[in-house]
Amino acid sequence: MSSRNRIALSIDVEDWYHTPLVTGSNFSKYKSLDDFLEEQGESYIDCITDETLRLLEILDDFNISATFFMVADVAQRYGKIVSALKGTKHEIASHSLTHQSAIDSKTKLELVPVETWLKEQRDAKKVLEDIFNTEVIGYRAPGAFLASWMIPLLEEIGFKYDSSIAYNSLYNKTNVKLKNIPTSPYYLNSIDLSSENPNSQLMELPWSHLKIPPFITLPAGGAFFFRLLGVGYFSLVLDRALRKGDTMFYIHPLDISSKRIPVSNPRNRPNYWINKGERTEQRLIKLLKKYKNNFTTCKEVYLKNA
Ligand SMILES: [Zn+2]
Repeated sequence: MSSRNRIALSIDVEDWYHTPLVTGSNFSKYKSLDDFLEEQGESYIDCITDETLRLLEILDDFNISATFFMVADVAQRYGKIVSALKGTKHEIASHSLTHQSAIDSKTKLELVPVETWLKEQRDAKKVLEDIFNTEVIGYRAPGAFLASWMIPLLEEIGFKYDSSIAYNSLYNKTNVKLKNIPTSPYYLNSIDLSSENPNSQLMELPWSHLKIPPFITLPAGGAFFFRLLGVGYFSLVLDRALRKGDTMFYIHPLDISSKRIPVSNPRNRPNYWINKGERTEQRLIKLLKKYKNNFTTCKEVYLKNA
């Protein structure tokens, strides 16, 4: 049965300085990407061009298509990544304009005015569609900071699916109290982000998680938890999720980068880059091999569930 269900493979293409630790969040070192670029000029280290090309090679080896959630800023300034992705079988989706977090990680109140946020998401979609000459139907919120007020707006912009909801007992990055979020795709209720009484045409491709009855739900999804917990844990999570339906896995080019991140903020999440580099690349290859018949793009998973 599990061989018939699919895993949407998604790759978030952002460089180290787009991450919330460095820019664009309430806990970042620089307030915005502009502030960072102003100070660093063009002298920053590129930790994603070689890494994205390497990921494309690995995907080719397994003949797997994936969805690349592009930060529009990356598409505008990383020509080699664009050339490598343009016109391929891979899907392009939006990971916003500059990877600015929309809401405060603690209060969940807006960090930018809603109108500004809306304009940025429209602009990012247009930038990506123009550069890659393809329709962009998928959205992932930077840092997975998703608010319920975004749902009708994402629909209005023309997105067909979102893939940002990480449901677990350890943290909640949304502005609502999440309950009973499945591991398979569903149409969103724009009030509580649940699958109950869906009132939007926007489909959610939620992040995977592991329920330990009666009270605990462990996070999974990919990236940080994949670097931390490895293939054994993710096989358990994915096997269970595949029994119920389609699910999602994600990774960053940054996760397989062996380059040292230049600006770190040791007080702030000191283990954030745990197992980055070769170790994670080897784990990813193992996972792709194991589930090569399940992995596909988010768009395929969207169409299958629409
Ligand atoms: Zn991201």
